[in-house]
Amino acid sequence: MRILELKQRLRAAGAGPSHEQRILRLWSHALPRNSGRRLPASFFPSSLMAALPAIEAELAGLARVQSVHPGDDGAERLLVALADGQTVESVLLPGGGLCVSSQVGCAVGCRFCMTGRDGLLRQVGSAEIIAQVALARLRRPVRKVVFMGMGEPAHNLDNVMEAIELLGTVGNVGHKNLVFSTVGDPRVFERLDRERVKPALALSLHTTRAALRKELLPRAPAMTPEELVDAGERYARATGYPIQYQWTLLEGVNDGDDEIEGIVRLLSGKYGVLNMIPFNAVDGVAFSRPALARCEAMARTLHARGILTKLRHSAGQDIDGGCGQLRARVGEVPVV
Ligand code: SF4
Repeated sequence: MRILELKQRLRAAGAGPSHEQRILRLWSHALPRNSGRRLPASFFPSSLMAALPAIEAELAGLARVQSVHPGDDGAERLLVALADGQTVESVLLPGGGLCVSSQVGCAVGCRFCMTGRDGLLRQVGSAEIIAQVALARLRRPVRKVVFMGMGEPAHNLDNVMEAIELLGTVGNVGHKNLVFSTVGDPRVFERLDRERVKPALALSLHTTRAALRKELLPRAPAMTPEELVDAGERYARATGYPIQYQWTLLEGVNDGDDEIEGIVRLLSGKYGVLNMIPFNAVDGVAFSRPALARCEAMARTLHARGILTKLRHSAGQDIDGGCGQLRARVGEVPVV
């Protein structure tokens, strides 16, 4: 379901703009599930009060937590079942963050990622994205939402931007705490320029070599690393949010001195931070993670040469909830 459709239904039932905002706020905070029944009978126009129980039942039926997988680091992976039986994963991160999924599967097919193995199964509707947030908020407060779960948000742009608009207004998430993560697509930059709620941007760079990038991200739009960084830099300067350049470290592939030189050439003076994430093991994928000493040496060298670099270990690795590890699963034993 689209948030747009939900708004149309609320208006058709007699909701004015303030009623609509209030209902959307309650829903995105998962408070309460049945607000229509708890509110005094005269709270909203009578036609809206009459329609609310059915609408709320439909919203509550959009998604449910099928199983919860807690990790040692405080992350919690939620397997979320959608109404048609498809599943997506959300990961509650330590510190109030939530990683949500925007597609079931993914068409980009990054070689090191589990989500893209079976291609794209379907889009996740904007209301289903908010439902992931609402379900997570039943477990913990959520102050940051990153679109780094299953799927490429650029390939589901209308739904993702609708969800971002809602979260950044009535959903009480600061705009810079909404993180749109993409392999880079010219349509994203055009669209974000026009939006009222402008999220922070994470760009999956992974290499400074155009040919290797094409090999690693076979169906990403044809933007060279230079074009990607140029577009990112314009957005960062316009919004005041530094770009988060993502780099999955693969042993013998993109951990060489040539890449260090390429990164210095590409990112010197740019308003951004380079997040290096050592590859997470994925069954059936032939890449390996470089030795920790090599990862640390790369980060140190880049720092010394003026590139703000963070070596990150993605949260939730022990529960298969790290970057590139999310995928539609079946048959997991529910623990809640
Ligand atoms: Fe899709 Fe992201 Fe996985 Fe690439 S890394 S296949 S863009 S989900």
